[in-house]
Amino acid sequence: MVHPRSAVFAAVLLGMTAMTAGAQQQARQMPPQTPGTLRGVPDTSIFADLNLYPSPNVYRTGDGRPGAQYWQQRADYDLHATLDTTSKSLSASMTLRYTNNSPDTLRFIWVQTEQNAFRPNSLNTLVYAPGSRFGSRNFVGGDIIDSFDQVIKGSKKALKLRDNGTVTKVDLAEPLAPRKTAILDASWHFAIPLHGADRMGRDGSLYELAQWYPRVNVYDDVRGWNTEPYLGQGEFYLEYGDFKLSVTVPAGYIVAATGTLQNAHEVLTATEISRLAKAAKSDTPVPIITAADLSSGAARPRTTGTMTWQFKAHNVRDVAWAASPDYQWDASSYKGAIAQAYYRPSAALIWDDAADQARMSIEEYSERWFPYPYPQISAVEGPISGMEYPMLAMETKSRDKPDLYNVVTHEIGHNWFPMIVGSNERMHFWQDEGFNTFINTFSEARRYPANGDQMQRAAEERAQVEFTQRTNTDVPIEQGPDRIDPRKLGQEYTKPSVGLQLLRQEILGPEAFDDAFRTYIKRWAYKHPTPTDFFRTMESVSGERLDWFWREWFYTTAHFDQAIDSVETSNANGAQHVVVIYGNHARGVLPIRVRFTFSDGTTQDIEYPALVWSTNSSRYMREYDFTGKTVSRIDLDPDHRLVDIDRTNNSWIAK
Ligand SMILES: [Zn+2]
Repeated sequence: MVHPRSAVFAAVLLGMTAMTAGAQQQARQMPPQTPGTLRGVPDTSIFADLNLYPSPNVYRTGDGRPGAQYWQQRADYDLHATLDTTSKSLSASMTLRYTNNSPDTLRFIWVQTEQNAFRPNSLNTLVYAPGSRFGSRNFVGGDIIDSFDQVIKGSKKALKLRDNGTVTKVDLAEPLAPRKTAILDASWHFAIPLHGADRMGRDGSLYELAQWYPRVNVYDDVRGWNTEPYLGQGEFYLEYGDFKLSVTVPAGYIVAATGTLQNAHEVLTATEISRLAKAAKSDTPVPIITAADLSSGAARPRTTGTMTWQFKAHNVRDVAWAASPDYQWDASSYKGAIAQAYYRPSAALIWDDAADQARMSIEEYSERWFPYPYPQISAVEGPISGMEYPMLAMETKSRDKPDLYNVVTHEIGHNWFPMIVGSNERMHFWQDEGFNTFINTFSEARRYPANGDQMQRAAEERAQVEFTQRTNTDVPIEQGPDRIDPRKLGQEYTKPSVGLQLLRQEILGPEAFDDAFRTYIKRWAYKHPTPTDFFRTMESVSGERLDWFWREWFYTTAHFDQAIDSVETSNANGAQHVVVIYGNHARGVLPIRVRFTFSDGTTQDIEYPALVWSTNSSRYMREYDFTGKTVSRIDLDPDHRLVDIDRTNNSWIAK
């Protein structure tokens, strides 16, 4: 979902006004605690064992890897969609081959019927305010299932369904034993909402389709069936599989979709096919369909009747698509992957940069974290801002090129989290939005180096975290997104991102952090990691126990306030003796970054790890001797690399 970099401050301010003075007082007095125990006595130290992790088992190991008997289900789909632009509706059918790799026999499955969010009186319309981002906009929609059968020995048996809103229970005609595959045939239709909760929708003749087919819910070793409803705010948790997709549209339409186009000779002109071949070898954008092609009619092989576009996608969690008769189309490539942009001529002044933005994004994330595994990436312009699907990023026209890049590189970054690393977004939103926001800071620094390196680029995010703490509007990060006030959802992006920056730059160091983070991605690529699997991998590979960090950064709203409590100086034998007592006035701990400035104008920076607070989390004393110079001032965190809610107590100046 869209990166709320600019929206977060406004959201936080709104949230603050809703909090009463009494509630703020209570929040200050009662910080959430997750005490460990030490010899039977509650250990309330920030450094105590976290004691929140489930026991390791054969599915998930104590060091954060998938275990020897790790399993996950598999869902392969053949999907056929027909767009009716007169009634603005979609009719579709599928064959789903659902493979049970669990040790359990399944008598039913759950599927996501997410268009039901747009029915009157859906839970979505009741939870969120009418007219809001996720709320109702007076549209009457909903999935209408026309048939749902299980194919057994070649014959179809109609299945009993129970509609539970955005999830539907499907009773199988015969039990599905371990290692067996059920074949399910279904057909359905729905009216396409104008505003699909900011995740799909339409604008004039342009359509963006997602949440459009009955996707099987995840059955896993942690929670069994994950049946959280789709309310709009919490995103997805989906199984991997191979997809065949056919999309039938009016012949004048151009379709962008997850996957690789299979029938270019049927749906493209010879000119477009040769331009695409050129783009596949070019690291700068090549126009495939120009504005002139659109206006002259040269863009389409024919414009009457319908045309069916066929795509294939391997090992993805989902497929989405967009279609418009007005799409300009540019393409470039990075190491064999095609980077594409589709946009209407009215967006061209900004979107002519989009194919290059898409290319740079996959280059950045591939080089730093994990190679992009898919054959193409597409940025598509339309009403949705912004939304991510495998190989497909949706974004609006945008204000300017940096604004477009901000969203495009974010939505493309989601191909790493959660499209490759398939965490549960409906339970642990930060595991994709937060991680993605973190990798975006490198991508932003790469495209716009004049704005500073990654840490400078992320200074705004650290300021946002400080602001929420200073105003007591912060929320614990490890909670389901549908339990968070939408005005505070931005914290799920920025706080984990800032946490990972600090872990990388100030706590573990880039070498250890990158080793651990890359290991996490590699271990859990195309699998379903929990937060525990992430925490354990980071500790195991970096060699640092980080209970305190996970506690303060993900489980509680511990705040940060370092101070210089006192400084005493004395002189003897030409040397200055200095005793500094550093204070930690809030519950959270961070490393100490201190700069001594001397009377001769020189400076000296000294660093202490966060563990110096482990025996006394509020007071830390150090003594120094300086020969031939005297201290004129001492400053904590002079470069604002950390988070600190009160910087008025960070400096000492000699009298
Ligand atoms: Zn996002």
